[in-house]
Amino acid sequence: VSRYARQLVLPQVGEEGQRRLAATRVLIVGLGGLGCPAATYLVLAGVGRLRIVDPDRVELTNLHRQPLYGEADVGRPKIEAAAARLRSLNGEVEIEPVAERLDAANADSLLAGCDVAIDGTDNFEARYALAEACAGTKTPHVYGAVLGFLGHVALFAPGEGPCFRCAFPDAPEDVPNCAEAGVLGATAGVVGSRQAALVLARQLGLGGEGVLHVFDGLSGRERAIRLRRDPDCPGCGPDPRPPKQVTSCAMVPALGPAELREALASPNPPRLLDVREAHEREISVLSPDVHIPIGELPDRLGEIDPSADWVVYCRSGARSAQATRLLIARGFARVRNLQGGINGWAREVDPSLRTY
Ligand SMILES: [Zn+2]
Repeated sequence: VSRYARQLVLPQVGEEGQRRLAATRVLIVGLGGLGCPAATYLVLAGVGRLRIVDPDRVELTNLHRQPLYGEADVGRPKIEAAAARLRSLNGEVEIEPVAERLDAANADSLLAGCDVAIDGTDNFEARYALAEACAGTKTPHVYGAVLGFLGHVALFAPGEGPCFRCAFPDAPEDVPNCAEAGVLGATAGVVGSRQAALVLARQLGLGGEGVLHVFDGLSGRERAIRLRRDPDCPGCGPDPRPPKQVTSCAMVPALGPAELREALASPNPPRLLDVREAHEREISVLSPDVHIPIGELPDRLGEIDPSADWVVYCRSGARSAQATRLLIARGFARVRNLQGGINGWAREVDPSLRTY
């Protein structure tokens, strides 16, 4: 009991509240910038059981925002490193690690037996699959997202109020994921901590459902948007439909760095299109190429020859996949995406280039 003394004295918690927390089973999907702090605070607060789901291994680029891992964990499965660390923080909490990628096929079984879920995903497929599973089973879940200095957090209680898709019916078409857009570790920490706080509030009966909090980690400004149930919601309305499929990077024509090297050495080499921002070209560049940042591409299509053979590249292949999709939709016949981006090229073909 003395472990929890500082929260037991809160009248909203007390011994009854602590017993409720000890009976709470939480699912956390994704052990990245949001999942690490969320898992940490839930374990410290004394929830009963935590199921942690993530298929990835720890990478060096994770460490600036994922404080469950240290340098020695690079290369280890995230769930393994996280489970060891979380157990060392509080041996009373049962940790259940699952090395799977959550999708529409396994979401229900991963959610089974959990009272509340935390969305710590970094991709729309998993995010919508989790939201659908929660809506179907009326399981409360806490959405969180971070992009640069901007954070989002909201607790949804499907069946009682708006569901996730009342607010976000379908995934946006052209939003880069966090790996592409950049994220400040401290902002991710705030979002993950707030997700944990909303889970605790929910289990203590303190509410907070149906409000989307949008905050700017730089200015400190915050908006609380009261969400309403959409009577025609594609998730919880009378005529449900699955979320629109988001095209993943793998679904556009693509080639790898080694293939590109061969193509460039051939008698008819493809032309290169860089869709990164100007400052990224100071780090690394493939030349000769054409440079049009992805945001300007729709307005500058006239600058590129639609009859030529194009290979589009960016940092890691996600933005260039979007650009490839856009060009194909606008009638460009021969466009391919460089998988792994210029960083992949640097690793496989030209180690003299800097990666970032
Ligand atoms: Zn809904």
